Amino acid sequence: MTGAELYKKLANTPLQMAMAPYTPELCEEMAVKITRINQLKKEQNAVLLAHYYVPREIVLGPADFVGDSYKLSDDASKTEADTIVFAAVRFMAETAKILNPNKRVLVPGTDPSCSLADSITAKDVRELKSQYPEHTFVCYINTTAEVKALCDVCVTSTNVVDIFERIPNDKIVFLPDALMGKNVINALKAKGIEKEVVLYEEGACHVHERFDYEFIDLFKKSLPGTQVLSHPECTPEVVAQSDFVGSTSQIINQVKSYDEAQNLLVLTECGLVTGLVNDFPQHRFVGACQMCQYMKSNSLDGILRVLENPTPADEVILDPQVMQDARRCIDAMFKYARQGK
Ligand code: SF4
Repeated sequence: MTGAELYKKLANTPLQMAMAPYTPELCEEMAVKITRINQLKKEQNAVLLAHYYVPREIVLGPADFVGDSYKLSDDASKTEADTIVFAAVRFMAETAKILNPNKRVLVPGTDPSCSLADSITAKDVRELKSQYPEHTFVCYINTTAEVKALCDVCVTSTNVVDIFERIPNDKIVFLPDALMGKNVINALKAKGIEKEVVLYEEGACHVHERFDYEFIDLFKKSLPGTQVLSHPECTPEVVAQSDFVGSTSQIINQVKSYDEAQNLLVLTECGLVTGLVNDFPQHRFVGACQMCQYMKSNSLDGILRVLENPTPADEVILDPQVMQDARRCIDAMFKYARQGK
């Protein structure tokens, strides 16, 4: 890809959604780095997986697979590459390692943590398990390998409601996202399903919890007819005011489904909204998105660094027993998810 081609794709990125203004000169520099990354991937039989939330030049440039956490877990499970470079956050790279124990998994982000994954430790889960011995433990995919290893099944924002429905036990502990947990309880109630769901109250996504329902009200009054789309990591008040609630991939499909031009207020991370602004120019995207500093710590330079000169800290190394137990938890998710197909 030439610098001019890259600039054409990035030039319309709204300034508040970019880490820096995309200029023709910057795109020329980026194109040189993308060419080098592609060459190194070929030489090392490596693939680059990128979450929608990482900087746009990675998504449009050297990424081989782009998606949300579920799709990327699935892509990771099918790859035949020797090395996986995971441009996202560490818990996602750990999932790729668990699914590919014999492959090298590299993390290019300089701060690849996640406020949700960091909110709970294996010790917290052990304490909960002794308190709720009869409950099925369901963890969000945004958890460390150690936490997954202690849980029965993990879920993503795409499949969480379906999996809750399919779990035969009516007693469930859900961790660590308390906001998503409340939204799932409400979604189950709306379907007439009653389960005893215990939530871990400490966890929230620092990006999605920031959206304010009063802000939605303002937009609906000043721009009547605005469609509000939100992620289930938002507060229940925001979800209640939304016209559509779904995971990253479900939000994309919803935007695709509108036949006529709309005013859209999309309450999620800026990376996804930027992609929508570029891919669906017929719609007007209003309001402000939020940035995840952890996802934005990924860069072309970081990818080049881990391919050219990785340090031990760049590679995901997990305890074999933890990997085996966490694999059981992830496989349970794939099994439940397949039940609906
Ligand atoms: S957007 Fe939220 S859940 Fe996703 S990585 Fe960032 S902090 Fe974690």
